[in-house]
Amino acid sequence: KRPGSKSPQIPKANHSPTKKHRPNPETPADILKQRESLAIFSVKEKLLAKIHAHNSCIIIGETASGKTTQLPQFLHEGGFSRQGTIVVTQPRRVAAVSVATRVAQEVGTELGQLVGYTVRFQDVTSPATKIKYMTDGMLLREALGDHLLKRYSVIVLDEAHERTIHTDVLFGVVKKAQRVRLKRQLPPLKVIVMSATMNVDKFSNYFNKAPVLYLEGRQYHVEVLHSMEPQTDYLFAALVTVFQIHKREPPKSDILVFLTGQEEIEAMVHTINDIAKGMPATCPRLIVHPLYASLPSQQQLRVFQPTPDGCRKVIVSTNIAETSITIRGVKFVVDTGMVKAKTFSAISGLDLLKVQRISKAQAWQRTGRAGRQSAGISYRLYTQQEYRNFLDDTIPEIQRCNLASIVLQLLALGVKNPASFDFMDKPSGESMKCAFTELQLLQAVEGAGEAVCLTDLGRQMASFPLDPKLAKVIMASKDLGCAEEILSVVALLSVDSILFTPQQKIEDAQAIRRKFVSSEGDHITYLNIFRAFRGLPEHDKHKWCYENYVHYRNLNTACNIRQQLRDLCLRANIPLKSCGQDMTSVRKCLTKGLFLNAAELQREGTYITLGPVKHKATFHPSSSLFGCKPAYVLYSEIVQTTRCFLRTAFVIEPEWLYETAPNYFRQSKGANR
Ligand code: ADP
Ligand code: MG
Repeated sequence: KRPGSKSPQIPKANHSPTKKHRPNPETPADILKQRESLAIFSVKEKLLAKIHAHNSCIIIGETASGKTTQLPQFLHEGGFSRQGTIVVTQPRRVAAVSVATRVAQEVGTELGQLVGYTVRFQDVTSPATKIKYMTDGMLLREALGDHLLKRYSVIVLDEAHERTIHTDVLFGVVKKAQRVRLKRQLPPLKVIVMSATMNVDKFSNYFNKAPVLYLEGRQYHVEVLHSMEPQTDYLFAALVTVFQIHKREPPKSDILVFLTGQEEIEAMVHTINDIAKGMPATCPRLIVHPLYASLPSQQQLRVFQPTPDGCRKVIVSTNIAETSITIRGVKFVVDTGMVKAKTFSAISGLDLLKVQRISKAQAWQRTGRAGRQSAGISYRLYTQQEYRNFLDDTIPEIQRCNLASIVLQLLALGVKNPASFDFMDKPSGESMKCAFTELQLLQAVEGAGEAVCLTDLGRQMASFPLDPKLAKVIMASKDLGCAEEILSVVALLSVDSILFTPQQKIEDAQAIRRKFVSSEGDHITYLNIFRAFRGLPEHDKHKWCYENYVHYRNLNTACNIRQQLRDLCLRANIPLKSCGQDMTSVRKCLTKGLFLNAAELQREGTYITLGPVKHKATFHPSSSLFGCKPAYVLYSEIVQTTRCFLRTAFVIEPEWLYETAPNYFRQSKGANR
């Protein structure tokens, strides 16, 4: 099977089943009733009293007990927002946006007034905002400008069990801010850590033995069914299971399917819709919703609409529906046992996005989603034997990611020795060292060991909400006079794929897009598409995207991101010069940041990455370079499924590598040449 064959992206405009079904609008009385039915409601006063009495608290409660939506409202009503804003962090953008939207609705205000949210490249708050949902990464970024987080009276670190790298660093940052504010007799900072799963002792001990409050969630019995045989194709197995349930069960008992990523999910939604067309009229109508992190907020919110009579909802989601988002009415869970996660090899310094097995803890979270409103069934598409081999707990992200970005931020936060930072779980010494090496090669830090410090360049790089490699690329555009082009390329690399390739039309799409394809590589191809897109009058853009098989929404997002990066550039005194048609400058400039991601052509036609560990890879079928054989390329994304694929890559001259990092390439490559 071609890996590219799993990427049909269906045009959204004429594909919204919910349009035909008007959602039943919730009245204020409905909302009140729903709020009062949540587990957290009965302990409101007790919670507020505890939070009054202690500077830090841990709250544990099953998903859907009302932690994320209700607690901030309680705090606001309880007067905790008088001296500052209440901020609630979320590991994911989707959750921040959808929860803020819901809470604004519950409070009865417009989003951005009393209740708002801030995610990367999007700020929907105003001076009136007292309850603010924010991604953990954004709060960390804000801490760079204000180490003591003085605007906030309460910081709620939500979904702590997810242990994202940003939440882990925030633990330390917030704990320190709390201590310093106390010492300096500034208004105190309340810290609340919320989690859906236990590991309470760890959280409590870390926050100086903070008291732990448990919420009694309602949980109905969920029957767990394992596969009898190992499944070779989990997508096919999931599809079969969905239709087995669908044929047998009455309407309105909804199905939640866990897959690993956007492409897979869009393809599955498409296939389910296709098959559903051929079902007998006696079957309930199927309403299928995708759910993943980069889905635009309006579409995310659709999953919450009540299932109309005589229909069945199927939600096809990433692990986002494991804990951060709750959809009422789910009775069946189809768990493929797979998740896409970052894994980092300290030896090679590579972050690989890899589809892998979930942990036992994740399997139980997924199972739990079936029993929120009544008894349910969890279909595990793996055998009991396979399950026994799963890890008990998910490894915290900080122990499996490239740390360069975090180390850069810690240094910018004034942390003298990031290796001795107060981490709840320390990252390995190896990966710390790896991060320092990378930052040194990028010229962002100098010195070694305890004397390591940011260079001026490093300080400027930290001001961009980007991976250090891309921040370096932007800084380098100053000398190469191509900031206009580089801003576009970096913005395009910050969104999901801008290509839109329906499965049945792969050849059509490729033929029509051929006019944009550059033999210099994907980055230039993207730039060609973006230039054409930006040159169009607003009212033609939609149609043009549709005709050219490119993604309107993602291109539009890239425009917004570009605008914000542009402002940051001006602040960093980078002149916005254009290099016109000189794409060599663009590629040279990209080399200044991405040189660590080099790959070299081998005799048999595959590529070998040039880090200390050699990964064997080929171009992804969706890449402009698929079928080409340039001697050297740099990539911005490498994915590993059955094999390693370079997804976005561009052609370079090997001399550029030596010019950029002579010592590095002399050492590791010299022998080969
Ligand atoms: P927890 O944080 O404990 O998991 P939440 O506060 O997120 O719980 O959810 C409480 C309830 O609010 C759930 O039943 C959920 O379905 C509902 N809810 C959350 N967000 C929305 C939304 N955007 N629209 C409708 N209902 C929502
Ligand atoms: Mg929650």
